[in-house]
Amino acid sequence: MDIFLENTLSGKKEKFKSINENLIGIYNCGPTVYDYAHIGNLRSYVFADILRRMFEYNGYKVDQVINITDIGHLSSDEDSGEDKMTKALKREGKPITLEAMREVADFYFLKFKEDLNALNIETPEHFPFASDHIKEDIEIIEKLIEKGITYNTSDGLYFDISKYKDYGKLGKINLSDVEKSRIGLNPEKKNPRDFALWKFNNELGYDAPFGKGFPGWHIECSAMSRKYLGQPFDIHTGGIDHIPVHHNNEIAQSESAYGVPLANYWLHNAFLNVNSAKMAKSEGNYITLETLREKNVDPLALRYLFLTARYSSQLQFSWEALEGAQNALKRLRMKIGELNDSSEINEAYKSKFESFVNDDLDTAKVIALISELLRDEHAIGKKSTILNFDKILGLKLDKKEDFEIPEHIKDMILKREEARKNKDFKTSDEIRAQIEELGFLVNDREEGAEVLPK
Ligand code: AMP
Ligand code: ZN
Repeated sequence: MDIFLENTLSGKKEKFKSINENLIGIYNCGPTVYDYAHIGNLRSYVFADILRRMFEYNGYKVDQVINITDIGHLSSDEDSGEDKMTKALKREGKPITLEAMREVADFYFLKFKEDLNALNIETPEHFPFASDHIKEDIEIIEKLIEKGITYNTSDGLYFDISKYKDYGKLGKINLSDVEKSRIGLNPEKKNPRDFALWKFNNELGYDAPFGKGFPGWHIECSAMSRKYLGQPFDIHTGGIDHIPVHHNNEIAQSESAYGVPLANYWLHNAFLNVNSAKMAKSEGNYITLETLREKNVDPLALRYLFLTARYSSQLQFSWEALEGAQNALKRLRMKIGELNDSSEINEAYKSKFESFVNDDLDTAKVIALISELLRDEHAIGKKSTILNFDKILGLKLDKKEDFEIPEHIKDMILKREEARKNKDFKTSDEIRAQIEELGFLVNDREEGAEVLPK
């Protein structure tokens, strides 16, 4: 079956064509490990996981990279502000050394892996650390120096965007649209959009032929993607915030150095918002998986919430929405648990499912399709068909939910049954409404009332 993906590079939904017949190379811009990831960040990796699982479902092998940025990322993506790792060292009272940076990075990397695990995200083939790839960074930078595309300022070695005619092609960014304030930030830059390939630092950093210091954040992704996936590779992903700067910079330097595209498809996830603002560390409105666990929320309820929207649509986070997702997931697992096991697959629903996921990962339609299938009285093979969908959804839909109906609800159900027997539908409706108020749903079935959490 054909696969269609929305490619930021062309601005269109395109029929996907892989470079190798059976192997798909995917690079996901990874976390900067100076702190815990927030659930907005994690939306990026759930999206990458759905992408990976979709390819696997379609019979491809996937070679996936999530890089770990453990050096060189400044607080502004435009090469200004404090180094994020140095900030973490100060926060944690550690010495400002490369060894201490790695220690902090290892800790938050471990936490990141725990988060991926909790969200049932499949482990990628590679988790390269930026600090282990200095040689590869230097190799690209030397190529760019050789080609005369760089220049020095007092604080670093910069890429001259006037030497790359396609600069800004990803997302067709408006080059004249540069905030005036930024121009003043570094008067030595020829163009405010020129970016650092290397930042000089005489005290701390790595030796390079062009001076001691740190690689720029953008060059790290160019170097690690090329090393593990080759150039060009199939798909590069990240959040939409990376389009205007980080990803256009990756493209400019990789394509200038080697004369071939960096990646054929660029996919971007939209933000997870809180009260219409992006969830972000800098906004102070962020939540981590740890907070969810403290509140007894199953991390897979968050995964469910993410899947109710397509990756490219904005999603509003609220505790009410998450609670709704948790209850919906619980209900779904319980309903599936009640279905008879059979190995039969419902071909009509399966083919709808495949058309939805292969149409730019429309998980929202898949979630709706599950309800439709459960309601369909004539459908065969419900259980195995839905568990087949779960190969991509990854919601552990076959998990047993231990659910006890509280005693006071059981009493109300008995009273309601009594009223129904006496054809006192007014009372029975009133009791149903009271039960619903208390957070439970009542479904009348031939064999008696079924009670589920709302
Ligand atoms: P960072 O660690 O800041 O480089 O971010 C890791 C990934 O999370 C990047 O792909 C970002 O684009 C993405 N991201 C950051 N904030 C959000 C958000 N609120 N919603 C969705 N994705 C986000
Ligand atoms: Zn990146």
